[in-house]
Amino acid sequence: MCGVVGMISTHKPVAGDLYESLIHLQHRGQDAAGIMTYNERFHIKKGTGLIRDIFDEQNMARLLGNIGIGHTRYPTVGGFSIEEAQPVMTHVPYGIAMAHNGNLVNYADLVKEVSELERRHVNSSVDIEVILHIFAHALDHPSTSIDGLSLFDQICQATETVFNRVSGAYSVVGMIMKRGMVVFRDPNGIRPLVKGERKNKDGTTDYIFASETTMFYVLGYEPTGNVAPGEVIFIEEDGTYHSRILRTEQFTPCIFEYVYFSRPDSMQNEVSIYRSRLRMGQNLAQRWKENHPDSTPDIVIPAPSTANTAALSFAHEIGVRYSEGLYKNPFIGRTFIMPGQEDRKKSVRYKLVPQEFEIRNKDVLIVDDSIVRGNTSREIVRMVREFGARKVYFISACPPVKFPCFYGVDMPTKSELAASSRSLEEIRDYMGVDILMYQEIDDLVEAVTRVGDHNIDRPCMACLDGRYITGDVDEGKMQSLKNQRTIERARLT
Ligand code: SF4
Repeated sequence: MCGVVGMISTHKPVAGDLYESLIHLQHRGQDAAGIMTYNERFHIKKGTGLIRDIFDEQNMARLLGNIGIGHTRYPTVGGFSIEEAQPVMTHVPYGIAMAHNGNLVNYADLVKEVSELERRHVNSSVDIEVILHIFAHALDHPSTSIDGLSLFDQICQATETVFNRVSGAYSVVGMIMKRGMVVFRDPNGIRPLVKGERKNKDGTTDYIFASETTMFYVLGYEPTGNVAPGEVIFIEEDGTYHSRILRTEQFTPCIFEYVYFSRPDSMQNEVSIYRSRLRMGQNLAQRWKENHPDSTPDIVIPAPSTANTAALSFAHEIGVRYSEGLYKNPFIGRTFIMPGQEDRKKSVRYKLVPQEFEIRNKDVLIVDDSIVRGNTSREIVRMVREFGARKVYFISACPPVKFPCFYGVDMPTKSELAASSRSLEEIRDYMGVDILMYQEIDDLVEAVTRVGDHNIDRPCMACLDGRYITGDVDEGKMQSLKNQRTIERARLT
């Protein structure tokens, strides 16, 4: 999972707004970030770490131009060095730069093809570079005569080539030197990509494309919906707007955006993230009352902070006091995002402190957004017990995560997932809780789709039910991903 943003104005520099946008996408990736703009030439600044540590007045002053793209990186494939940071660019044809959010299932095959068939060098292990080469080569070597075709027609052909060859999840923002901005989203719309407009007093319009709407309000943009699955948009430097839907397939946006990733003030696919989390809590409460009528806790505590919203509505529905009984140090990053198991283990106690007055001699119910590896949840339970809880119940707003994600989220191997091979009772015992309850899959889907003018066919839930929409994930693919991750981790230690 990463955050992307693209911006184009007919007359205003975009670097400052891109920086603000990345600040509002920081929760989507804290490993590296980059901004690229152009006027007469491309200008780029990339770095590792947090946005505020990478950019300063001096390097921002170099980012000239009225069009630009930005990226904040959360590594799923590739290493953690500056070479893996986005945006990436190629000089031929025109000069094209791109950044994306997603993950390619057939990345290894495509790298081979791009090198051998198209004789293009792939210089990093980030999958956007492969998309960039395929797009650029197709634009430079059209399969049909381009006589009479507009540049937008040619961009559509190149994007079609990407759709034909690339399997996986990808929301892409890009720029073509001296031509304008190009944006497209994979035909299943797995990763998000929203769009917005800002009307200027002189009658012109600025456009923004981003992973979330989080920066729209502060920058004065009005949301205008989503880039549709299979859609390509091209905005010329003079503001002329072109759009075409090239493919219509099943729309399967990632359900984890609602469970965990997106900021609560975001709208994704016309559904409020905050409201969907409230509904997750309501549905959990209904199940709790049905399944455990004699186990009413004294207090409901969220595992901060994504679970706060679901815990709030859960507590309200069962008539029990909601308590922020775990204090979270706001200056430490989200553990799920930190690379490496040891870091994650250490950081739980470092960033969470139980409040004894809220816990001692009480039956405590902890609500978490999800249980992925289970080690963070187990640490939380241990801490709560150390602070004198009488009983500890644990509920997860997400159903058991049993399968790895191939579409842009760091759940690398099946064997690392708590629920991949353990029963509910085994996980309960591993975590050391008196009762463990997960959200039902149907209840989660209901919580996400109950309200909103959305057109979601069925969310992607491959990590929960093993149904990978691209149809090309099997045991062999899982094994090769496992091998790839093992090599990458060995490189890091
Ligand atoms: Fe999201 Fe899970 Fe699908 Fe990955 S597999 S895109 S985390 S729902």
